[in-house]
Amino acid sequence: MRREEQLGLDGMPSRLYACTPTRLSTWLSCPRLYRMSYLDRPAPRKGPPWAHNSLGASVHNALAGWWRLPQAQRTVPAASGLLERGWISEGFASDAQSAGARDRARGMVEEYVAALDPADEPAGVERTVGARTDRITFSGRIDRLDDRRSANGGRELVVVDYKTGRRPLSTDDARSSLPLALYAVAAGRVLRRPCHRVELHHLPTETVHAWEHTPATLDRHLGRAEDIAAECAAADQRYRDGLTPAGQDEVFPPSPGPGCGWCDFRAVCPEGSAATPARRPWDGLEPFPAD
Ligand code: SF4
Repeated sequence: MRREEQLGLDGMPSRLYACTPTRLSTWLSCPRLYRMSYLDRPAPRKGPPWAHNSLGASVHNALAGWWRLPQAQRTVPAASGLLERGWISEGFASDAQSAGARDRARGMVEEYVAALDPADEPAGVERTVGARTDRITFSGRIDRLDDRRSANGGRELVVVDYKTGRRPLSTDDARSSLPLALYAVAAGRVLRRPCHRVELHHLPTETVHAWEHTPATLDRHLGRAEDIAAECAAADQRYRDGLTPAGQDEVFPPSPGPGCGWCDFRAVCPEGSAATPARRPWDGLEPFPAD
């Protein structure tokens, strides 16, 4: 059992590192991106909005709005209307391209909600949950938290994450996802109910990729999160202490790779610019990158 707080040498609680799963994942993907996203102030200027992000956000908002409707109003046409009215048109090459993407997104949402039971009231929609361990405190927002009958006849919470990218997903994506595991831990603690199952709902392929965690696998993810957070905390401290430009690159090295093409800060990152060709804001529509 993890202690609620870690006591310092003087017996006083030591400060916990506050983070989100996204912050930890950003550190893992690229420390320079982490620095520019979370530490540099003012933050470097980002590139223009991405069309595929607009599509993803529009779908997420429509599904959240659908669940917030009274049960009798949770119909397929209602979902279409929410998608239409909430469509985010940033990042598209033209109105015609935006309209085509909107039609495709509306189709995805319609097919998805047609398979749902409006009476399956979720335990939460876009619900923020948080928890802490000996070393960190973390919070994050869950797309949907289901309240389902478990195999033993009781009730259990299930973490549901919507995905709209074109990249095919697998069970391994659900199993290895640090954010999903942390959401499960936090949901279980906040609602004081069992929460071990995590699911990726991939709307373009109408597939669900699920993983059933055990207390041991959740604990492993927590330990990993604590280790990553310790690296972040040490790097944050060195940043606060003051770093030369060379020191910044030593503590926050770039991690150039194929993903740089989709990085918001590619234009101000020489290594990332050299690693990939420039992408246009709508290039992620065909095919979509991972979201
Ligand atoms: S462009 Fe690539 S290397 Fe540069 S900050 Fe972004 S992800 Fe990191």
